[in-house]
Amino acid sequence: MHNRGRRRGLQRFAFAKSMRHISGAVTRIVIIGAGFSGSLTALHLLRARGGANLEVVLIEQRASVARGLAYQCWDDNLLLNVPAGNMSALADDPGHFLSYCRTVDPAFGPGSFVSRRIYGDYLEASLAEAVRNTPGRLVAVQDIALALEPGAPDAAWRVQLASGAHLDAEEVVLALGHFPPLPPASIPAAALGACYINDPWDFVALDLLPHDLPVLILGSGHTAIDALFRLTSASNQRKVILLSRRGLTPQGHRFAPTPPLRTGFPEHLARHVPGVRTYLRAVRERAALRMREGGDWRDAINELRAHTPQIWASWPDAERRRFLRHAVAFWDIHRHRLAPSAFQRFEQLQRSGKVRVIAGRVISCAREGSRLEVQYRPRGQAGPESLQVGAIVNCSGPNYDLTRLDLPLVRQMLADGLLLQDPLKLGLEVGANYEVLDARGRAQAHCHYVGPMLKAGLWEAIAAPELRGHTQRLADILLDSLAPQPAPSVPSAPGA
Ligand SMILES: Cc1cc2nc3c(=O)[nH]c(=O)nc-3n(C[C@H](O)[C@H](O)[C@H](O)COP(=O)(O)OP(=O)(O)OC[C@H]3O[C@@H](n4cnc5c(N)ncnc54)[C@H](O)[C@@H]3O)c2cc1C
Repeated sequence: MHNRGRRRGLQRFAFAKSMRHISGAVTRIVIIGAGFSGSLTALHLLRARGGANLEVVLIEQRASVARGLAYQCWDDNLLLNVPAGNMSALADDPGHFLSYCRTVDPAFGPGSFVSRRIYGDYLEASLAEAVRNTPGRLVAVQDIALALEPGAPDAAWRVQLASGAHLDAEEVVLALGHFPPLPPASIPAAALGACYINDPWDFVALDLLPHDLPVLILGSGHTAIDALFRLTSASNQRKVILLSRRGLTPQGHRFAPTPPLRTGFPEHLARHVPGVRTYLRAVRERAALRMREGGDWRDAINELRAHTPQIWASWPDAERRRFLRHAVAFWDIHRHRLAPSAFQRFEQLQRSGKVRVIAGRVISCAREGSRLEVQYRPRGQAGPESLQVGAIVNCSGPNYDLTRLDLPLVRQMLADGLLLQDPLKLGLEVGANYEVLDARGRAQAHCHYVGPMLKAGLWEAIAAPELRGHTQRLADILLDSLAPQPAPSVPSAPGA
């Protein structure tokens, strides 16, 4: 650890306390963010070479590593939306997660939808196993990275931490994850106090909401369904309203789905000029054909998954904008499906009248005592209608408009010209080897990004099956850039 860091006593996580001094020429790779992407990058680095001549430092502001935002929850009612057979953290060992699941319950199969809590346990156990196999090579520090400065003496970068310590690094990986949604312009968030929750993943705040008045959820996608389940688990009486522009809600997976088949670029698309309209029509026809043949429309979506980055790359910005304006809501509810039992639970809540879904847009909102008076315009209707609710929860989707993020690290990097936002504000511009591009579009040596903001260039980049591949490739790229090393002398496969 860097001297200054040592002096100030960086707070380490339990499994990293055994760190010893690493002698000889070592390369320090600092990974900012130890959620899914950061932790898997670390895991791949450790596995590949037994960590030889590496010091991997994970910086994480949360009190846990590996779980990140998605898998930190302890609510076993919240399930993965991908079957266990396709959730391995290791691309080269597809059964890795399923083997772990079977240590929890032998009845789990590849088509089981297990809880996100179990998946978090698995990620933590896999990283801990890799750390045990490579003693002293990984340090996990609980702190917040505030700034990244280039050109520190004898290192490519210097990371400034909230504790006052700093770390010098030969390589830096940004794995910052998701950012909370922006409050809608029509909602006076500050005036609503505790009746308005902008961070939909703050379950402590959700649990404190009053039970006697309906809760209005802005959005009707996966995050909205999570919040709905949490709110209705806490109170049997509670009523919830989901309000989104189109009022579309996620479809369900079929029971016991099989992983998507890897096939070549779909012929029914290759026949057309690349474009939103042509491709959507072709996919609809394909889905209808599947169903006529006694199959399932979901296969028509699944077979696109591996090719989505190629399709996205073939569309100019104008076409991408068209997709975002007219088609994304339809795409999302078919592509990002709920676990079958979660879908059934949602349908049951609708049947019981506990949840109502409205297509429309909030126009204004005012606080009247303990109630909120919300004016909204129903879709396709000229005049407004009103709702009386006890609280509003913003589930309108993560914000990746970097200019509107209140995060010191992102603010500083933007101000210093070290980041480049994509024109559609979907995420970050990166080079072919995950290098972070600077404001002038130049790939920056020794600074990489991995995580959901890859969506800017790839579209399909936010779920575990894609991100595990990106973290593996990034680790390979980082290792290739180091001097050749002897074969590892420690076991390389973490058998969690
Ligand atoms: C609620 C939810 C449920 C999901 N469910 C599924 C699913 O069922 N199946 C599936 O395939 N995918 C799912 N996903 C998608 C997926 O797994 C995530 O996109 C993935 O977890 C992204 O990992 P990440 O490391 O980029 O972000 P995260 O895992 O969120 O990690 C980012 C970490 O960086 C830390 N951090 C950020 N800035 C700093 C800083 N400056 N200093 C220190 N630490 C910092 C954060 O505290 C955080 O822990 C889900 C996503 C969400 C949000």
